[in-house]
Amino acid sequence: MAERFDLAVVGGGIVGLATARRYAEEYPDARIVLVEKERELAAHQSGRNSGVVHSGVSYRPGSRKARFTLSGRAELLAYVRSRGLATEALGKLIVARTERDLPDLDELARRAAANGVPGVRRLGPEGIRAREPEVVGVAALFVPSAAIVDFAEIARSFARDLEAAGHAIRRATPIDRIVPHGDEVHLIGASGAIELEARRAVACAGLGSDRLARRSGVRPAVRIVPFRGEFYEVRSRATPLVRGLVYAVPDPTLPFAEPHFTPDVRGRVWVGPNAVLALAREGYRRRSFRWKDAAEELADPALWRLLGRLGPRALREGWRSIDRSTYAADLARMVPALRRRDLGEARAGVRAQAVDDAGNLVDDFVWAETPGAVHLLNAPSPAATGAMAIARAIAERLPLPGRLRRPTEGGTFKPA
Ligand SMILES: Cc1cc2nc3c(=O)[nH]c(=O)nc-3n(C[C@H](O)[C@H](O)[C@H](O)COP(=O)(O)OP(=O)(O)OC[C@H]3O[C@@H](n4cnc5c(N)ncnc54)[C@H](O)[C@@H]3O)c2cc1C
Repeated sequence: MAERFDLAVVGGGIVGLATARRYAEEYPDARIVLVEKERELAAHQSGRNSGVVHSGVSYRPGSRKARFTLSGRAELLAYVRSRGLATEALGKLIVARTERDLPDLDELARRAAANGVPGVRRLGPEGIRAREPEVVGVAALFVPSAAIVDFAEIARSFARDLEAAGHAIRRATPIDRIVPHGDEVHLIGASGAIELEARRAVACAGLGSDRLARRSGVRPAVRIVPFRGEFYEVRSRATPLVRGLVYAVPDPTLPFAEPHFTPDVRGRVWVGPNAVLALAREGYRRRSFRWKDAAEELADPALWRLLGRLGPRALREGWRSIDRSTYAADLARMVPALRRRDLGEARAGVRAQAVDDAGNLVDDFVWAETPGAVHLLNAPSPAATGAMAIARAIAERLPLPGRLRRPTEGGTFKPA
């Protein structure tokens, strides 16, 4: 007989782990299980990102993205400090490279003010040089609250909290679908057998979220299109090229495609990520290809509508991925001292980007409900920053029946 729980969470990325942990705080007497298909936690987006705790500058005021980022970042940083995990408040410079970027920089300044991001300052070319001597631009915004962390380390810490409180984590356990059964749900495994029974379930399956939802009876209005983001380590120099986080003003047609300079908590500096359409959902190399993923993607009219919308921008991203010199030359518009030979070790992540039927990139969080379950269908960047706030919202949306809920501002889990 399958084991029975009060709550099952599918997906051992930072959002799934934060969600399971949130329920464990709110329902201290509940039995909770988290199931992950890989042997490791945080193996996909949560372990392959830029590691930036965003501040909420660029998000549309009032959007879920803005709300989750602003409240989630505070909660996340408090957690990181309480556990002694690595973080540094480096601040972020967003640079207008030419006069043409200025209207977009103005819009970012307006959004930062509307979102209540503290301490944002506008700098001219001199101010840019004073803060980042190797960076050139006509103007910039400095955002002091941007910080760096290791999101995989945070995810693993959430997992330790759960296990220490007696909850279960099942690794190497793929879930095929979540189906209602009376007032409860069954989680069906890859073999077709019932893997788990639970009163309620939450799916935070990242790159697999639309497929899991579809197999569970949801007709999602979005599909996941994988965009690979490639990073290069900037080889260390006697004088580092950047001191903090340095971003160019994003291009509104593909806002997440502008590679930036990102120091990490281990003292390395990375440039990236770009945004290349990937032909494998979990393909971390340029040649990664998976028939199932590619066939599904290319047969979908929404993808072609998206490509039509992106036009030459998509081709340029593809070329920039193949040709490191173009990648370096783009970055050198902002940091002229950067050369192709400065780009060292490569790594990549794949974004689970939701796209609607009309071929639009879906910018905000999307979820769907089936009896007894919630499926998170789009948790785009900065969902790692906002994970604890997303978790709070999910727990509000899907209460656990028959268990006493304890409203909490945190505190159940004391540092070990
Ligand atoms: C290149 C890149 C840079 C980014 N930079 C930042 C940044 O600097 N700051 C920021 O805040 N955000 C950033 N993000 C976004 C952030 O990483 C993601 O939004 C976040 O990690 C999403 O977490 P998740 O738990 O939803 O997804 P994931 O981490 O992808 O986790 C989903 C998990 O579900 C599992 N799973 C899937 N299907 C099943 C199934 N059927 N059964 C069981 N398990 C399943 C997967 O194996 C996976 O472990 C970046 C993302 C990328 C790709």
